[in-house]
Amino acid sequence: MIKVAIQKSGRLSDDTISLFRECGIRFSRGTGRLKSTATNFPLEFLFLRDDDIPGYVADGVAHLGVVGENVMIEKKKDVILRKKLGFSKCRLSVAIPKGNEYNGPEDLRNKSIATSYPVVLQKWLDEKGLTAELHEISGSVEIAPSIGLAEAVCDIVSTGSTLLSNGLKEVETVMRSEAVLISNKNLDAKQTALLEKLLFRMNAVQTGGSNKYILLNAPNEQLDKIISLLPGMKSPTVLPLHMEGWSSVHSVMAEDDYWEVVEELKNNGAQGILVVPIENMII
Ligand code: ATP
Ligand code: ZN
Repeated sequence: MIKVAIQKSGRLSDDTISLFRECGIRFSRGTGRLKSTATNFPLEFLFLRDDDIPGYVADGVAHLGVVGENVMIEKKKDVILRKKLGFSKCRLSVAIPKGNEYNGPEDLRNKSIATSYPVVLQKWLDEKGLTAELHEISGSVEIAPSIGLAEAVCDIVSTGSTLLSNGLKEVETVMRSEAVLISNKNLDAKQTALLEKLLFRMNAVQTGGSNKYILLNAPNEQLDKIISLLPGMKSPTVLPLHMEGWSSVHSVMAEDDYWEVVEELKNNGAQGILVVPIENMII
């Protein structure tokens, strides 16, 4: 049995739960429950506050955990980063009142800065050779300048609209963060095998999600050109259509290339182009 600590409710919860479900793990998420055992995998979830997850994983109460990389660094616990998960992307930024002039990090020297992430901020200040007076507060950091608590803030930003509505402007990015899978340092052989199994599935889901399956009909005289546009996993599958002189071509392509390639395919005579999502993909 492997125990996985995940956020009970917050910005990480829904995507974390979807990820494990996409990995084929079935479990229920009852409101108010602290634990849930998967029905088809030897895994138990512990629903916790995100701030507590690195500590529980370091102590071995949980073997694995999902947290923001910012929280993993902030808590300074002895855990291993196993995988970046690609969701809950945000940045930790320094912001100052909109009307203040700013010419670079030097302007923050000896200023008072309110933040919920003093460890991450201090690391950045050290790298810049700066000292500042940090005020650790646990929430509503963005109001600190207007109530006279601090001259600047260092807070999580995803769109910047909260900063703007509090009369602040973003001036420095201190770190970029996303959700990460962390593990205890001393997993035994069985736990390591379960972790490997999970990682295998997570990689397949991630690769699948960033690729598309494409099917199209092509006139045979255009096949070479069309196939050259579709690298596929090994090479595309080509099947004859019932109609003479035409073939059906099946392949896989990166989501990022999709619109460019579809355009080119059409220009080269492809018809009936179907693009379907891939649930997961093992290369
Ligand atoms: P808890 O009640 O569990 O302590 P919290 O209020 O501390 O929750 P959340 O706001 O749910 O935390 O954020 C959890 C993590 O999600 C953050 O540490 C960060 O990594 C990420 N995150 C926070 N805000 C955003 C955002 N606006 N966009 C994307 N990701 C975010
Ligand atoms: Zn928290």
